[in-house]
Amino acid sequence: MSEDCFICDKHKGTIETAGVKIFEDEFVYVGHIDKGGQPSYLGHIMIDLKRHAASLGDLTIQEANAFGQIMARVSRAIKETENAEHIYALVSGNSVAHLHMHIVPRYPNTPEEYWGPNEVYGWADAPFGRNEDIVKVCERVKNHLEENRYEY
Ligand SMILES: [Zn+2]
Repeated sequence: MSEDCFICDKHKGTIETAGVKIFEDEFVYVGHIDKGGQPSYLGHIMIDLKRHAASLGDLTIQEANAFGQIMARVSRAIKETENAEHIYALVSGNSVAHLHMHIVPRYPNTPEEYWGPNEVYGWADAPFGRNEDIVKVCERVKNHLEENRYEY
């Protein structure tokens, strides 16, 4: 845990974010991106390391195993429950030095000029939603994970 870290605060439950928690174990925490009350691109999921460490290179082997498995499971869930045709994954870390991976779906019919984990946001027909829509996405993904727990 680190003071003044948005992601640590979220894990402690001291701040509220959009949607509901999708998954948590001792190594990783999964939830929907939060745009501070602004509409969010639906299905943009965040996978956080529980421990306050900055980058992929800081992962222990156990953490890496957990991170890799949840990346695969969340990506499959979004494809199946949200009808995504492709999943982008990105670690930036420009704003918060606590490892979190962006999982960004690309939906069918997205024009090619909007292909990419940031570019999809620019498509006028991309699905954006407020908290009630985000909660529904979270619950569908969460249920899919629970129903497919032993698949891997
Ligand atoms: Zn942190």
